[in-house]
Amino acid sequence: MIARVTLEIALRKEFDYLIPPDLAGEVTVGSRVKVPFGPRQVLGCVTALVAESPHTNLRPLARVVGRPSLVTPRVLELARWMADYYCCPLETALRSVLPEAVRREEAGWRERLFVRVLPPAGEPPKLTKRQAEVWNVIEEWREVSLQELQRLTGTTAETIRRLEDKGLVSVAPQISERDPYAHERILPTQPLTLNADQSAALAKIMAAMDGAAKRSEDETPRMEGGKRGPSSSFHPPASVFLLHGVTGSGKTEVYLQAIAHALAHGRGAIVLVPEISLTPQTVERFKARFCSGPLQTLVAVLHSHLSVGERHDEWHKIRQGRARIVIGARSAIFAPVEPLGLIVVDEEHEHSYKQEEAPRYHARDVAVLRGQREGAVVVLGSATPSLESYYNARRGKYALLELPVRVDDQKMPVVRVVDLRQANRKEKGPAIFSPQLHSAILSRLERGEQVILFLNRRGYSTSLQCPQCGYVAGCPHCSVTLTYHRPRQTLLCHICGYEAAAPAACPNPKCRHPGIRYAGLGTQRVEETLARLFPHARVQRMDSDILQRKEDYRRILGDFRTGKIDILIGTQMIAKGLHFPNVTLVGIIHADLSLHVPDFRAGERTFQLLTQVAGRAGRGDVEGEVFVQSFTPFHPAIQYARRHDFAGFYEQEIEFREQLKYPPVTRIALLTLRGRNEDKVKFAADHLRRELEKTLAGGGDLILAGPGPAPLLRAETFYRYQLMLRTRQMRPLSRALAKFEETLALPDDLTLTIDIDPVDLA
Ligand code: ADP
Ligand code: ZN
Repeated sequence: MIARVTLEIALRKEFDYLIPPDLAGEVTVGSRVKVPFGPRQVLGCVTALVAESPHTNLRPLARVVGRPSLVTPRVLELARWMADYYCCPLETALRSVLPEAVRREEAGWRERLFVRVLPPAGEPPKLTKRQAEVWNVIEEWREVSLQELQRLTGTTAETIRRLEDKGLVSVAPQISERDPYAHERILPTQPLTLNADQSAALAKIMAAMDGAAKRSEDETPRMEGGKRGPSSSFHPPASVFLLHGVTGSGKTEVYLQAIAHALAHGRGAIVLVPEISLTPQTVERFKARFCSGPLQTLVAVLHSHLSVGERHDEWHKIRQGRARIVIGARSAIFAPVEPLGLIVVDEEHEHSYKQEEAPRYHARDVAVLRGQREGAVVVLGSATPSLESYYNARRGKYALLELPVRVDDQKMPVVRVVDLRQANRKEKGPAIFSPQLHSAILSRLERGEQVILFLNRRGYSTSLQCPQCGYVAGCPHCSVTLTYHRPRQTLLCHICGYEAAAPAACPNPKCRHPGIRYAGLGTQRVEETLARLFPHARVQRMDSDILQRKEDYRRILGDFRTGKIDILIGTQMIAKGLHFPNVTLVGIIHADLSLHVPDFRAGERTFQLLTQVAGRAGRGDVEGEVFVQSFTPFHPAIQYARRHDFAGFYEQEIEFREQLKYPPVTRIALLTLRGRNEDKVKFAADHLRRELEKTLAGGGDLILAGPGPAPLLRAETFYRYQLMLRTRQMRPLSRALAKFEETLALPDDLTLTIDIDPVDLA
């Protein structure tokens, strides 16, 4: 037998190796193996077993890493599809489907020395420079194998032992499993009695699952009889559902009961949630339902905040079939749950489901594909579905389920749009609080209720401009203005992190005007103004400048929940899924910020954001109120959000997409060329266009636009030019692009990226 293997070091190629007799039973498709390559041994993944090879003089593979095979044949199939569709090498796709923590694994998971951070005790000990460097790394990882740590820091075990002597870390063999939630005691919950809409939705989901389960039962005898039909009729696709339910309509309860149904059929489930919503509360809701009772199973959690060791163990719990429910962010879609009965993609419209580096996959789309291949039902849930998914529902590709009212018939909050153009007239300075919002805040404070204010821009002010000579402080590496951060008295680039001291006078040597002005508004400035206007209110800001450590997020939300904070001001971080019964007022300071960006999804994004933020108001007994301040109050995205009218927004938006042939009517491939020399990038981009025209000539409905400068022309010193291709059928185009990329000869200092179905056009 011969194993065909992809290697981590050589892309877009597979190599054949002999399987030595003593490993014969152990090598399967998906096995991780160590193979000789030149003078070294390298890691790879078996992609096929073949009887013959076109090559001679095959070398035997050295050993198998991890048993059972780490990549199941089904997940491998998924990786192949991704490599194909998203134009990337198979090895790159494989890197995504197997977490780093599992891939690196060589000796299994027992008997390895792990270095762990100990809780601080007393005065921090004095460290040498070297020890401090190593300590910084350990602190970051919290827990890491000794071997890995030595590799990361290039240090000896000796240095690490010194830190152990000083009481900072423990170094011990890891025998027990690392459970990130081990210290939490979770009280079991029972299924709730569903309301009529929830019941109807659940019934359809369960019926689809039963249909899928029946089909897979039917398969078995046919396989034994050897009469296998063509594979397309063999795996009839299970339904994909789009669950459109307003915030607080009880979608999660529907997910929970659908999962119970899958478990009862002996199948597992994957639940995807955006990283930012993957809070301990969310996880607990799932654990609480399945931690006891007849369906009891482990719930595994996969997200980027786990330590390497934790991620390794969570993954293996799934692979061994002990955890049959997985909750996680984007990459959890590759979790080796088998057999899989259900995939839930919550907040399916979220852009964080798209990976912004190769492989540039969209977890929602991978979920739909995986569900169809494995006979699992897929439920996409959202209060503001993406145009893509709603379009599919309208055309009958997905089944639409609707939960139009909040549980217990709570009213949707009243949304008032405030025209800042008028409010602005009487006052000087930037408009922050209209008189309406100002008095609404006052009355909530008097009643002891809580307020959330939203502004999607951190920092103090967005630009620094000299009124005398017109000088604007820009980043030397990116084509953006620098944001003024008051607490640190610095100007900061939000793209590359460049930092400079804030000047007291105009930096232009010919001007030196002392009256330099800060324009535009950020959360810091709102915070400062709040302190002035409402001196007795307890105000807390929450944005990524504040949240330097991950405990901060929990702490602030905890303080808000327990009433230690009256007004929470924040960026989109506070927009998602948080549930605070005492919040009766939400103020959106500038609703226009996300509207005037050069992206055809600007309207959609604004509608989603406004609806999500507004959904934070009035989730308790008191009715909620929302103020949306805007300079363009009659924009459809704002007006439809005001009326909670998703279908209305969809109708007008889809018309615009039809006219301009933008997704979901078409699909996009975005080609971006990067380099440090702008002329060279531009020249190569023109060349690229001519070559594309030659290669793709007669490509049916293909629309080729560009090249043109990217909306953000320069980022981190690189100039970027883009070409946009649109077509109704992406598969043939992505195949053609992959071939095109292979034959393309670019100068060394230019790079080309191909992004299929991009969500970020900047
Ligand atoms: P969504 O996910 O749609 O925003 P949730 O599932 O979080 O909504 O539900 C909002 C609240 O309503 C939760 O506290 C949940 O426990 C409760 N809830 C959901 N369904 C029911 C029901 N059928 N009966 C009573 N309470 C429910
Ligand atoms: Zn920059």
